[in-house]
Amino acid sequence: MSGDHADASISRRVRRLETLLEEKGIVPGGAVDEVLDAFLAGASPVNGARVVARAWTDESYRARLLADGTAAVQELGYMDGSYQRLRVVENTDALHNVVVCTLCSCYPLALLGPSPGWYKSEAYRSRVVREPRSVLAEFGLHLPPSTDITVWDSSAETRYLVLPRRPEGTESLTEDELAALVTRNALIGTAAV
Ligand code: FE
Repeated sequence: MSGDHADASISRRVRRLETLLEEKGIVPGGAVDEVLDAFLAGASPVNGARVVARAWTDESYRARLLADGTAAVQELGYMDGSYQRLRVVENTDALHNVVVCTLCSCYPLALLGPSPGWYKSEAYRSRVVREPRSVLAEFGLHLPPSTDITVWDSSAETRYLVLPRRPEGTESLTEDELAALVTRNALIGTAAV
């Protein structure tokens, strides 16, 4: 796939740049790996779930999140210094959102952790655009015909996060308990909470 070729080419260039920086003494050997490891260790769907739980329990945070996703997640310490823009899209009774990257595999890694294999698959990337209702049904998410579906195509600059609907009967749960209900797939839009 072209995405894999692009990734391999970028990997080579990054490795070359890393070697040059180390040879010139600009960064100590291994420093880049340490930063990347720390980033990946912190990248988890738990982060996205915390953002959602905050939005469910704090109406003004929810409004800020929908108005400017990047700034709102940075309030909670995520995507600091990121050059990417985050757009948060909210599910309602009438509208369900689902995220894809048709070109390759762009994904809000900091909020969701490493992407699942199916997200990068040719089948998901091509089919979810053409027949989202069928694809979601295959994930076990059967939406009523009255619910419209919007498919958001990610890019290098713009990433998307789905704000799922808060389940009924969760009024007494704490923010942490709510966060524990939110799955990675719910944040992509291939599951409900
Ligand atoms: Fe991509």
